[in-house]
Order: sequence, then C-alpha cells, then structure tokens
Amino acid sequence: MTKLRLAIVGAGPAGIYAADILLKMERSFDVSIDLFEHLPAPYGLVRYGVAPDHPRIKGVITALRGVLDRGDIRIFGNVHFGTDITLDDLKHHYNAVIFSTGAVRDASLDIPGIDGKGSFGAADFVSWFDGHPDVPRTWELDSASVGVVGNGNVALDISRILAKHAVDLLPTEVPQNVYEVLEGSPVTDVHVFGRRGPAQVKFTPLELRELGELRDVDMVVYDEDFDYDQASLDAIASNKQVKVIDRVLQSWRQRPGANGEGGEASRRLHLHFWANPIELTTDADGRVASLKYERTRPDGVGGIEGTGEIREIPMGQFYRAVGYFGSPLDGVPFDEHHGVIPNHEGQVLSAESNEIVPGMYATGWIKRGPVGLIGHTKSDAMETVQHLAADQGSWWQPVEPGEDAIPALLESRGVAWTDLEGWHRLDQHEMALGEPEGRERIKVVPREEMVRVSRGE
Ligand SMILES: Cc1cc2nc3c(=O)[nH]c(=O)nc-3n(C[C@H](O)[C@H](O)[C@H](O)COP(=O)(O)OP(=O)(O)OC[C@H]3O[C@@H](n4cnc5c(N)ncnc54)[C@H](O)[C@@H]3O)c2cc1C
Repeated sequence: MTKLRLAIVGAGPAGIYAADILLKMERSFDVSIDLFEHLPAPYGLVRYGVAPDHPRIKGVITALRGVLDRGDIRIFGNVHFGTDITLDDLKHHYNAVIFSTGAVRDASLDIPGIDGKGSFGAADFVSWFDGHPDVPRTWELDSASVGVVGNGNVALDISRILAKHAVDLLPTEVPQNVYEVLEGSPVTDVHVFGRRGPAQVKFTPLELRELGELRDVDMVVYDEDFDYDQASLDAIASNKQVKVIDRVLQSWRQRPGANGEGGEASRRLHLHFWANPIELTTDADGRVASLKYERTRPDGVGGIEGTGEIREIPMGQFYRAVGYFGSPLDGVPFDEHHGVIPNHEGQVLSAESNEIVPGMYATGWIKRGPVGLIGHTKSDAMETVQHLAADQGSWWQPVEPGEDAIPALLESRGVAWTDLEGWHRLDQHEMALGEPEGRERIKVVPREEMVRVSRGE
C-alpha cells in the first residue's frame, strides 16, 4: 500500500483537525503524520487567544487533546518552520505538507498618532494576558480612561479584561504576572468604538451579554445611537442573532448608567456606535492623550458616511481590535494583501502564476483569513484533506522518508524539541501549580521553563 508521509506545520485546531480527519477517513493509502509546532505547547489560539475567563471554550482543548493522545500523530514542539526546519527539509522527508500556522499579527489602522506610546494592537495584549511565551511579561496599565476600536469578539475580550476586577479572574487560568498587573489597574472607563451601528456589529450575543453581567461595571450605551435606519430595522427583523443583540443593548438602555447618568459602579464600559476613529492625539512625550472620532451615519446603500461632526474623548491608552493578519512563511507563496497563503480550497497556489503548487496545502486562518470560530476550522480542514487525498499522483517523492530521520535532523541542529509526553509533563506541572490555590492550572509562561519542564530537565 502507498504511504503518505505528511508534515503539518502548526498545532492549532486547524492542524490537529486536519490530522484527525485524514487518519479517520476512508482511503487507499497508509498515513504517518508529523506535526511541527513553534511553541512548546499545542492548541494555538485556543491556549493563547481565547480569554482565560472563557473556560468553556478553552474546554475545546479536551477534544483536541483526545486526538493527540490517541498516539498516531508525532508532535515536534518548539520547532520553528523557517529556521529549525525548512521547506527543502520537508520535501526531502515527506510526500506533502499542510500549513496551518494561523494569524497572530494585528492588522493595521492607518490614523495619525497610531504609533504613539500607549497605542497597542489587540494581538499584543491578548498574547500578554494569555501568557504567550514570546511577548514581554510586563504590561503598563497607567490610565483611567482607555479606548478600544472594533466591533468583533476580540474587542469584547479586551474590553472585558480591562474592565473586570482582577479578583474575578482569579479562579481562571490567568497567569500570575497578568493577575498582578490587573489587580493594580487604574482603569475606570473603557470606551469601545464601532464605525457602524448596533445592528451591524460582529459580536456574538453570548459574548455581548456577558459584559452586562460583570460585577461593579456599568454598561453605558447612548440613546442617540439607536435611531435605526430601515436597513438596521430589516436586519433586526430578519436575523435572529441581530435581534438578540438588539434586545441586549435595549435592556442596557434602561439600566442606571445609560447615557452616562445615574450609574453607581466603580467602572464603566461605554459602547460608542457610529464612531469612526480619525486621530489619536499625543502629548509632548508622544503619549496617547485622546481619540478624535467622526460621527457617522448610514449612507442609504448599506454603507456609512461621515457627518463632519468631530468628537474627542481623553484617554491614555488605545487598543485596536480591527482584525488579525497572517505572517509569511519562508519559501511558501504569500498574499501580502490579505495575509494568507494563496490557495484553491486548500491547495496552495503560486503567487505569480496562480497555478497549483504540488505537495503544498493550507488550512485554518492562514488559508481563509482570520475570521470564524474554532468549529469552522474543522470544515475547513475537511476540504483541504479531501484535496490532499485526491492529489496522490502529484505528491512529492521524498529521498529520505524514514521516520527516524527527523528526530536525528533536529538533534543534529541542536533543536530542543518537545513531544507528546513532554506536553503531558507540562500540562500536569501546570495543574499541580494551580492545585494548592484551588485553580485548575497556573500557566508556565517563560519559553525556557516550558521546554525544561517538557523535556524533564
Ligand atoms: C483573541 C481571540 C479570541 C478568540 N476567541 C474565540 C472563542 O472564544 N471561540 C471560538 O470559537 N474562537 C475564538 N477565536 C478564534 C479561534 O482562535 C480560531 O478560529 C482558531 O484558533 C484558528 O485556528 P488555526 O489553527 O488556524 O490557527 P491558530 O490557532 O493560530 O494555530 C496556529 C498554530 O501554528 C503555529 N505556528 C505559527 N507559525 C509557525 C511556524 N513558523 N512554525 C511552526 N508553527 C507555527 C502557532 O504557534 C499556532 O500554534 C478567537 C481568536 C482570537 C484571536
């Protein structure tokens, strides 16, 4: 029987689902899979993106772990594609590769002042509060008023973490260094800005509703934003999700704190709709001092237009949650405009000729861009894997397909790779750290320590 030696690069949900689907599907060939991951721990953004106070979603890890624990996928953690292992290496040892490297950079927001001190991308803040090993341990929260631009779930995550009292995060897996910074936070007012109206947001109802349940936080919505146009009324009438979102927001209009009046909480989370950020002003030291935004209105054909009315809110920090962006991989075609690997249903395409590049596939956020929930990466992986299986005639013909060659290669390069057993060791170590404090786990953050624990050194 023909054997497919497959490399998968990126052990987030997309890569793990692709491996699982391939192993379970009916096929005419044998399979052996090596999964390469840059971090010493698998699960991608489920571990390093999903917020610590969303344990139910973090629970997806249980299903992903079930796949890895079956033992039919080899994991090489702490291995970076591009430096520790290259495309030429993969061609030398495998029949094909699936790239599932996700998207971890922030998309840009081109307004004056965006490079000022105190202006951050959402991805940087998320990586910090989720204990990503490759970002600094410290975060300076030094302002009572902060701004967040974006009307998707990432903007909600950031706003919630900034508004929430740190003690309410304690039962979660929030890293200790993060807890300590949040505990000393001076933030009292979080202002969230969206360019469009309440009926056009990309929030999911569950995540929005959760904001209204935060202890000692007033939700501040403004009556002027609810003067709906026909398109908004149609969206509310025809779309169940929009209807629920509207219902949640309308209920907040009745609460103390609405319109900035009568609230008693020590912190406030303001939602400003129809607000297009146009400039971050900075002080003499280059620090963010305020956000200027223009009020917008519907343009009658499904878009928005500026009203010319400029408003300004003082703030010392500004976070842009305007989308994530993929990173190029050495030797792999890349679409600079969309931040993805160009592909046809997961078959990688040449950036120049648009023709299928044999042996190379993509899945997950690096395939279709940073949109969609974890569950979407499963259907995505299915499509990619079906092409891979059907393309048997055009797989690479590796010179050295033996399974021992890869550990030997990494060893010869001095790469301190970690494996499944190592992940179990780290997992148990983190849970043991949490146990005395009644917490499910305390994440190990420094990369060297993660590797040391994993390798039992
Ligand atoms: C802040 C945030 C919150 C989210 N919250 C939710 C939520 O609550 N619910 C939900 O359903 N979805 C949520 N999502 C979406 C979800 O995280 C994504 O749908 C999913 O993680 C995408 O999976 P992926 O495998 O494509 O990418 P990722 O999860 O990013 O995995 C990619 C993996 O590839 C690795 N990698 C990258 N480059 C290399 C390289 N050169 N060499 C080796 N390895 C590499 C990375 O380290 C990473 O482990 C959230 C996303 C973000 C950003």
